[in-house]
Amino acid sequence: MKEKADLYAAQWNALRLRNRLVWSVLAVGIVVLFVASSPMFAKYQGIVGCTWFALFVLSGSYYGAFRCPRCHKPFFKAGFLASNTLTKKCLHCGLAKWT
Ligand SMILES: [Zn+2]
Repeated sequence: MKEKADLYAAQWNALRLRNRLVWSVLAVGIVVLFVASSPMFAKYQGIVGCTWFALFVLSGSYYGAFRCPRCHKPFFKAGFLASNTLTKKCLHCGLAKWT
């Protein structure tokens, strides 16, 4: 069984990295927005907010675009507008996450 778990280890590590990227963008964004909410930075609030939102959407899309290690189809997307980033298994071949 151990060999099977190691089979897609590199791909799952890549997914873990993408997951961390999304959470890092979210966490850093909250801190940066908190700092930017100070009246001293009032004129930068718009650009900071927009940049953070764009980065968050980009990192989220990057996470959502992860391809299944087994069937190589988008892991979280079953079709156009049909996606579920919280799924525990591939929406195409049913490969369980982290296996
Ligand atoms: Zn699959």
